[in-house]
Amino acid sequence: MDEQQRILIIDDDPQNIKVAANALRSPELIIGFARSGAEALERLEDIPFDIILMDVMMPGMDGYQVCEKIKANPRTANIPVLFLTAHTDEESIEKAYASGGVDYISKPIRSRELHARVKSQLRQLKLIRNMEFLATRDSLTGIYNRRKFFELGEAMFANHGDTLAALMIDVDHFKEINDNHGHQTGDEVLKTIALAIESKLPKGAILGRLGGEEFAVLLPLTSPDQGVDVAESIREEIASSKLLLPGGDTLACTVSIGHGTGKDILSLDGLLKVADDMLYCAKREGRNRTRLRTPV
Ligand SMILES: [Mg+2]
Repeated sequence: MDEQQRILIIDDDPQNIKVAANALRSPELIIGFARSGAEALERLEDIPFDIILMDVMMPGMDGYQVCEKIKANPRTANIPVLFLTAHTDEESIEKAYASGGVDYISKPIRSRELHARVKSQLRQLKLIRNMEFLATRDSLTGIYNRRKFFELGEAMFANHGDTLAALMIDVDHFKEINDNHGHQTGDEVLKTIALAIESKLPKGAILGRLGGEEFAVLLPLTSPDQGVDVAESIREEIASSKLLLPGGDTLACTVSIGHGTGKDILSLDGLLKVADDMLYCAKREGRNRTRLRTPV
């Protein structure tokens, strides 16, 4: 995870921005600012801020309205918003939370309080991100787990549909590797293979471990042959490398790959099913190969 985090200070008064920025200056924080709600929303389009400090009283949109907009956008909805406000009556505080804020800090700004509250939010954020990471990753290989792969895959299918290719990748004779060399070696093989696959993926592709020795890739195609080219480069990379065993021996392994794509496929499950059927063909035809569906 990034060591540095980005905070966006939104205030129409440059003096307030200056005071807040001075209070928050630290090597771990990159500070950005905006002088209005509209400017803030624009900046949030381009830059992934981690936390927001928001003035309430601003010309145009007030802080509550800006916060509501931030919370309504799925891309920014999870960014914690702390309000900076001169109004600490119960109604204003209630409004700050109701619009999606996580905390409020009363003006005039007290530097050490501001610093402490922002730090506390950043600590929570780190915790949440660690938990999210653990919940979405396969604990052995660090790549996406099945649940996250399908979640991201559904969105990719909705966006790319018939220009999406699926690769189903299965380690050949994995049971024998486990039986002959032990599960620890089997685990090392899976980790090595995950890295090898990852090293061959173009930008925008996703990789998940669907279970056991089975991996899946989804990639939006930039050319008709790209899916097959990627599959073959993965297969060759794995076939040409050897895993060093603790005793000094080496272990070679191969994968079989099923490739699926097609304009007639209507769902992610359908796409993966085609790739899975092709994987089965690749296994039957002798393994260590990529199998494509005969065009329909
Ligand atoms: Mg103001």
